[in-house]
Amino acid sequence: MSSRYARQEILPPIGPEGQAALRAAHVLVAGAGALGSVIIDQLARAGVGTLTIVDRDIVDVTNLQRQTLYDERDAARGTPKVEAAKARIAAINGEVRVRAFWDDLGARNAERYAAGAQVIVDGLDNLESRYLLNDVSLKLGIPYVYGGAVATGGMFAVLRPGITACLRCIAPEPPPPGTIATCDVHGVLGMATATIASLEAAETLKLLVGATAAVERGLVSIDLWRNEWRRTDLSNARDPACPACAGRRFEFLDGDRLPNVTALCGKNAVQIVPRLVISCDLADLARRLAPHAAVTPAATSITATFRESGLAMEVFDDGRTVVSGTTDAEVARTLAARFVGV
Ligand SMILES: [Zn+2]
Repeated sequence: MSSRYARQEILPPIGPEGQAALRAAHVLVAGAGALGSVIIDQLARAGVGTLTIVDRDIVDVTNLQRQTLYDERDAARGTPKVEAAKARIAAINGEVRVRAFWDDLGARNAERYAAGAQVIVDGLDNLESRYLLNDVSLKLGIPYVYGGAVATGGMFAVLRPGITACLRCIAPEPPPPGTIATCDVHGVLGMATATIASLEAAETLKLLVGATAAVERGLVSIDLWRNEWRRTDLSNARDPACPACAGRRFEFLDGDRLPNVTALCGKNAVQIVPRLVISCDLADLARRLAPHAAVTPAATSITATFRESGLAMEVFDDGRTVVSGTTDAEVARTLAARFVGV
């Protein structure tokens, strides 16, 4: 009987030894959306032994255009993506161990989820979390496969601690909100996310089988509509003054960039203000909150009332969030992190 990995094992760069390395490997896939779906599917089919997946979203019908792990039943039920992904992977390859966490990846938990992984792979939809992953990668010495897609294209790079530049060498600060394209506003082609995700998965495989000579050393940008590939060499991109990789100051991980949380005196409420102004898509948020709470829209905010806990959460379009019904900062922060991502 031939192995389920026969076609992959006969590839000279992989071979039985590479396959054994994949089986023993542990990869953190951060995010189980458009990029994460394809990355998780491909790494599981390739036989990566352990996958840790972290995502805070539930499956929505608008995801199905590109998020290949999910179907209409998941969307109708509002299943958490990590749960749907875990069930799907169990059906695809029962040899893979999936550690699924329905959680907001943040400074409080990122190190814990990355611990023991050989590679961190980016399936995220926001830039601030990418800076967090960059910090985790550097602190723990784990290579970080960076990727992002929007509209008809995307980009990827492999950032290896001590060897290549890090994200902050290339772009020291996340760009101000409103200056970068997002999928919510500009849309995204499913083929673009699938292409970038496949390239990220391929780089992950190279790292896991020790094919370091083959690992990409540039920042590659691709546009599928124009069929253009552009490669920016990163060989000399390491910044000796980089706060993260040179200075080993992990500002995103250490919480210096965490939101400001204050109890509002006499109001039985807690206010959470993001450190960086973010642009919050309230219509999308209202849809995500709908299965969990009664949602009331206003001009520049929405209010979600949670029946079970009695908590109410007002979210403004700049990400500012007020949780009423508690004075416990942790309760408020957890609620805001889960649904708003601040
Ligand atoms: Zn750096």
